[in-house]
Amino acid sequence: MEATAGLSAAKRDRPVGICPRCHVVVRVFDQIGKKCAKPLPFGAKCPGVIRSALAADEWTECPDCGASGRINSGVCTQCEGECWLYYKRRLST
Ligand SMILES: [Zn+2]
Ligand SMILES: [Zn+2]
Repeated sequence: MEATAGLSAAKRDRPVGICPRCHVVVRVFDQIGKKCAKPLPFGAKCPGVIRSALAADEWTECPDCGASGRINSGVCTQCEGECWLYYKRRLST
């Protein structure tokens, strides 16, 4: 993931889906509608189902890192390196 250090990484594509439970984002259409199953800190897997989030106005470029995914030499904590933030937080739970 960090192999391009030193070069200005190309801006990442807008995600196509998001988990309404843990807010992990996906860029693969195949994952929409499938279980998130992201490992959670307490040993369980996320029970969320990835939903599509295809509208441009559902996302905003991360203002903290300028959509670069990085702040100084570290990964941006606001977007966790994804460069995009989910704008409409009205996710069904
Ligand atoms: Zn999840
Ligand atoms: Zn960011």
